[in-house]
Amino acid sequence: MARDYYSILGVGKDASDGEIKKAYRKLALKYHPDRNPDDEEAAARFRDVSDAYEVLSDPNKRRIADMGGDPLDNSGGMPGGGAGGFGGSGFGGGLGDVFEAFFGNGGGGRQKRSRVQNGADALLGIKLDLAECYTGVRKPITVDTAVLCKDCEGTGSKTKAKATTCGECQGAGEIQQVQRSFLGNVMTSRPCAACMGTGEVVPDPCPECGGDGRVRARRELTVNIPAGVSEGMRIRMAGQGEVGPGGGPSGDLYVEVQVEQHPVFQREGDNLHVNVHVPMVDAALGTEVHLNNLVDEQLNVTIEPGAQPGDRVRLNGAGMPRLRGEGNGDLVAHVDVSVPTKLDAKSRELLEKLRDHRGENSTVADGKSHRGFFSRFRR
Ligand SMILES: [Zn+2]
Ligand SMILES: [Zn+2]
Repeated sequence: MARDYYSILGVGKDASDGEIKKAYRKLALKYHPDRNPDDEEAAARFRDVSDAYEVLSDPNKRRIADMGGDPLDNSGGMPGGGAGGFGGSGFGGGLGDVFEAFFGNGGGGRQKRSRVQNGADALLGIKLDLAECYTGVRKPITVDTAVLCKDCEGTGSKTKAKATTCGECQGAGEIQQVQRSFLGNVMTSRPCAACMGTGEVVPDPCPECGGDGRVRARRELTVNIPAGVSEGMRIRMAGQGEVGPGGGPSGDLYVEVQVEQHPVFQREGDNLHVNVHVPMVDAALGTEVHLNNLVDEQLNVTIEPGAQPGDRVRLNGAGMPRLRGEGNGDLVAHVDVSVPTKLDAKSRELLEKLRDHRGENSTVADGKSHRGFFSRFRR
């Protein structure tokens, strides 16, 4: 079933582009997932509203909708899809034609596909290290997409002539046939092969692009990566995707960020985590650990006397820059106390003296101990 995109947006069939945009903005804001967390109905409405705007803001798609079709329904496998389902390739031979005649076109009729279409979006991955995410960076990228054919300037014609009505189908984009079947004469139609269902042909196809108006080419671009990006984020470069068939408007290019593991820092949101090894004696006496951050600035982590294994020391504002909003996250240093494994005679003597002085004994811990695996279990 073709959806009624006008009623989804609550506008009339004669709504102007401005009215459509205004209605969309209002509804998109109302049903936006950020404003309606965990609300499935709002999420569904948001999708409908987005679909409706996609269709009604595009003259080609809006025309299809006005003719009773659904430009977003490609389940039928037909250009411009009517009511899909039976029209596809699932049914062989005559029976398929019968089904198609009865159900496939759903009364709306098959719509002509436009010769000039919007270009597809393109997606490209980019590998960054954590320091590049920290500073932001400009990176060269190589994009391999369809671009406008220079020879014909996208017209698809050697002499840049305008497309003319297809002689095979008289511009209908489809060929109709009467077929005999057990139900009597059945009218069937199929997309015109001469014009690929567009109803138009270019009289003198450009030899460079074969009449498509575009060719594949490699381009060198520079992508601007903002500070604070993280794994999986996509940076949109408007109009840098594929050019459309027949020289239609270009889609967008999305550059998806992949971040390499850092040998020292672990990222968690805008915070950075780091392990620091603190010798047993320093943990007892307190000390200062120096470390270099991602841009080689020195940071000092103060270990208080009596630090325990697993203690965390937080350096506010020493984490990753926040992509949205001000400032940086935090740096969290995790204390790892190193117990010496090899003791020379002097160290052994000093430690034995310390033991005698402290007079401490190893004991069995009770379940209330704030450390150890008991508390970890309870958590
Ligand atoms: Zn060309
Ligand atoms: Zn044709």
